[in-house]
Amino acid sequence: MSFESMWAALQPVGRDAHTGGYRRFAWTRTDHDLREWFAGECAARGLDLTEDRMGNQWAWWGDPDAAAAQGRTGVVTGSHLDSVPDGGAFDGPLGVVSALAAIDLIRARSASEEPGWQPQRPIAVVNFVDEEGARFGVACAGSRVITGVLEPDRARGLTDADGMTMADALRKAGREPDHLGPDPEVLRRIGAFVELHVEQGRGLVDLEKPLAVGTDIWPHGRWRLDFTGEANHAGTTRLEDRHDAMLGLAQAVLTARMAAERHSCVATIGKVAVQPGGVNAIASAATAWLDARGAQEQAVRAAVAEVTAEAERTGASVTEESWTPTTPFDPALAARLQRILGGPPMMGTGAGHDAGILANAGIPTAMLFVRNPTGISHSPEEWAERDDCLAGVASLAMVLEDLAGVGA
Ligand SMILES: [Zn+2]
Repeated sequence: MSFESMWAALQPVGRDAHTGGYRRFAWTRTDHDLREWFAGECAARGLDLTEDRMGNQWAWWGDPDAAAAQGRTGVVTGSHLDSVPDGGAFDGPLGVVSALAAIDLIRARSASEEPGWQPQRPIAVVNFVDEEGARFGVACAGSRVITGVLEPDRARGLTDADGMTMADALRKAGREPDHLGPDPEVLRRIGAFVELHVEQGRGLVDLEKPLAVGTDIWPHGRWRLDFTGEANHAGTTRLEDRHDAMLGLAQAVLTARMAAERHSCVATIGKVAVQPGGVNAIASAATAWLDARGAQEQAVRAAVAEVTAEAERTGASVTEESWTPTTPFDPALAARLQRILGGPPMMGTGAGHDAGILANAGIPTAMLFVRNPTGISHSPEEWAERDDCLAGVASLAMVLEDLAGVGA
């Protein structure tokens, strides 16, 4: 049951033979196989597997309810096993496999000691369902439903690319969609949550360090830009007579890039829809979606203001579709992790995680990032070296021993 053997067992599950990427989507056969794999690994370790009202899997070492009766909460680690379309092997599974391997390491160490180390607080490994939102379009659906951020009715009504609702997908997977809902009892068991995750950028490569402690999730938002023009013939309409919706859009793409550089954040237009969409037709309408994020909220706002001003100058309308302020992880917990681990770097992230949803629900939460030499994520190029993975396992084991070593 080593890290390597667990990794090898997961490797073929949901892997596309042509792209080499993973297609592990919620409530599919592949997802079922991953959940069964997780259940088997938990059973082999004598962990008590429970599910919450969304089907997230929680495997407990120790009885969280007996501990709660004595005023002690649990220490939880883990991540998710699903993927984006053609995703990498590490985003999610690294956190789940490392959690199980960390428990093995703690137990092996305590078996060789006299007396052996025993947790004073129960420890759990969680496998969150549907973190990527690849099938139904809402990221972190598993943690959003149990924390009440995503309404059960809305979740049940979400549809996949084939028009199947989440309710029907749940039924097809042999589950009861009416069961979906907030699960405060499960959340009350969590005194601390630590999610280990592959880094999704090049921060640690540049610092030449294998591991970082997460400080926060960057503020981020999405905006819709609607440009209007007038459809006409691409061959017969004189340039001075045209009203081309694409010109404003092109200017917005360039402005987003330059504004992001000026304000030290990131801004991306990666999705556009053009009407009528003909090669030989001038665009009558163009819609673009802007995604902007950064360490500083003011910087992101300033960059978006520049894009908005430029778009409005060309007659476009700009709508804010979503805005999420900075999600800070628990500063005291992060500082404790940094102390336990001998001072690794502290780092924010521009990517969303279940850890962010739990942090917003008031649970003391922290993250550990493992170096990704390619800096690439959500792609088969995503990578972590074996030694860095094992350093992550050893670090997580130290964290769990420290957090669960004292009753709290
Ligand atoms: Zn992830």
